[in-house]
Amino acid sequence: MLKAIKDYIYQMIKLHSLRSRIFVIVLLVGIVPSILMRYAIVENYEERAVRLRQESMQDLLSTIASHLVTNNYLENYLLTDQQTLANKNVINAELEMLSGMYDGRILIINSNFNIIRDTYGLSEGKTVISEEVIKCFQGERLFNYDDQNGFIELTTPIVYTVPREDGESDSVVRGVMLTSISSDSITETMRILYQQSLTIEMLVIVFIVSLAFVLSYALTRPFNKVTAAIKEVKEGYSDEAISVPDYVETVQIIDAFNELLREKRAMDDSRQEFVANVSHELKTPMTSMKVLADSLLTQPDAPVEFYREFMEDIVSEIDRENQIITDLLSLVKMDKKVQDMNISSVSINDLTELILKRLRPIARKKDVEITFESNRNVVAEVDEVKMSLIISNLVENAIKYNNDHGWVKVVLDADHQYFTLAVGDSGIGIPEESLAQIYERFYRVDKSHSREIGGTGLGLAITKNAVLMHRGSITVTSTLGIGTTFQVKIPITYNPPKTPESKETDKSRNGRGKFMRKA
Ligand code: ADP
Repeated sequence: MLKAIKDYIYQMIKLHSLRSRIFVIVLLVGIVPSILMRYAIVENYEERAVRLRQESMQDLLSTIASHLVTNNYLENYLLTDQQTLANKNVINAELEMLSGMYDGRILIINSNFNIIRDTYGLSEGKTVISEEVIKCFQGERLFNYDDQNGFIELTTPIVYTVPREDGESDSVVRGVMLTSISSDSITETMRILYQQSLTIEMLVIVFIVSLAFVLSYALTRPFNKVTAAIKEVKEGYSDEAISVPDYVETVQIIDAFNELLREKRAMDDSRQEFVANVSHELKTPMTSMKVLADSLLTQPDAPVEFYREFMEDIVSEIDRENQIITDLLSLVKMDKKVQDMNISSVSINDLTELILKRLRPIARKKDVEITFESNRNVVAEVDEVKMSLIISNLVENAIKYNNDHGWVKVVLDADHQYFTLAVGDSGIGIPEESLAQIYERFYRVDKSHSREIGGTGLGLAITKNAVLMHRGSITVTSTLGIGTTFQVKIPITYNPPKTPESKETDKSRNGRGKFMRKA
């Protein structure tokens, strides 16, 4: 249990599981935008609030600057007559109101850089020579927002219009208003905004994490179902075809698995059937031998001829048992891999001639005539032993299942890709309903007849396997009572199935010539 939890956490961290990936994706898609949105809202508010504050301040300060000009505030600030004092009081009240409203300080500086008015009353009479003041005298308005110390600073020129001799007029900066106001209210609003959005964000995060958890669980559930279903089959609790129709992907996985299962079961069935058939076939000669031996034992006084006859029967049963075992071994060899193919260039004409020469004495016993017709000289890339089995099995059958005084005709032909070997006979033929089964192991059309003539029912199974290993094909046509023709078609150039190992062999094969010459 602890290990399972550890594995789960490890998988989550390493993002090896689909569930952890879905979890992380939903988390990122949900949380990142909400964090970005919070920053965007707060930052945007700050910029907008500062800009609005600047604009409203600048409007008010410009109005006051024009009042200063109309009242000659800069020139008359030292005068104490009634009228000047009254004008000064009005302007001072405006300045006080403005600085009170924005929690700020306003300095009025004349062209000698003297501070003639300070709303805080601290610096009047002092001289101020700072960059922003000098620049403002040159007509440049400056604006500075110091978010660290929480104030906004701006300069406003006090501009006089001086008439020129040519009737035009010049704008001359004769004073500067240096204003600094507190930005605490903006900072405070930002703090509240930040806190509120943080609270909302926390709620969003809780929601997104829960959603990510639920989604990652729900979306991967069908895959867990697939694993559970496959496990059940593996452990033998169920042998039904399984189904998880939740997603197209799970349907595809399950279909592939069911197909595999079907193949495995078919293989199991055929293996079982094969073992049962082998046991049966091997038991039959044994039973005969036992019967023969038993009958000899029960007759101790039996004449010698009797013994001899029974012994001959026992020997023929042993021969038969031997034949079955030899055939079985050939078949097992055929079931091996492509790598076991021992490919070389073989003259099919010579090979056929050799096999026919070996079989002619057997044919002669039934007075069956064997002819070989070769339309071309064929040299092909084949496994010589397997090719010999193909030819000899087909010709042997053509002789075995022939009538006395019949014929067997072997025809070899080729095109630029394949060679064909047809073995025709004038024999007993194969019933149509048996044609599909003759390649099955131990299948015989007429068991007793086949047994009489020494058949094991394995010959055509071996032949077909050998043909398929050469990537060829075998076909049969037969008419009952008239005869049968088997035709084998095999590529002249051996063409192994495409496996990673075989690709290399392929390369080395390129460049070899064709193995066919005109006869
Ligand atoms: P067997 O060892 O019995 O000959 P095979 O696998 O070679 O086994 O053949 C399977 C069956 O197909 C044979 O038992 C026989 O009935 C039938 N058969 C094969 N070849 C011929 C043929 N040329 N003519 C008629 N029947 C044939």
